[in-house]
Amino acid sequence: MEEMPFNDISYERFLNDEKLMGSRCRKCGMLFVPPRCICIKCYDTDMEWVDMKGKGKLAAFTCIAIGPPLMIKEGYDRKHPYVSGVVELEEGARVVARIEGVDGSKPETIKIGTPLQVEFLHRAEADGLTTYLAFRPS
Ligand SMILES: [Zn+2]
Repeated sequence: MEEMPFNDISYERFLNDEKLMGSRCRKCGMLFVPPRCICIKCYDTDMEWVDMKGKGKLAAFTCIAIGPPLMIKEGYDRKHPYVSGVVELEEGARVVARIEGVDGSKPETIKIGTPLQVEFLHRAEADGLTTYLAFRPS
């Protein structure tokens, strides 16, 4: 695992295996999800993989009425917006993900600070299996 480069390809491969992985700077401890190979805080490149527990809370969200074709295919539209959120992980990093199990047409019912649990959405696409990161109220 340590051999894998700190990039999006590795990150997506881990997602396919239902693992949420980030990289941590060995010098200053800054954590990145998705992983980065260079620390944006101290510019060091000494990184290590860290396994996220997949628990966090909702820090911000947007209801998206006009989504990409994949989302339209899943039945999301102006009347059924889907929710994209920023999740603050227990480990401290923030990650953008789809928020499942909430009603995007009633944003007033979605609360900042809601405890969330990771969920992996596997989708068959033209170029193979893709896994999308999602979270759902725990
Ligand atoms: Zn650093």
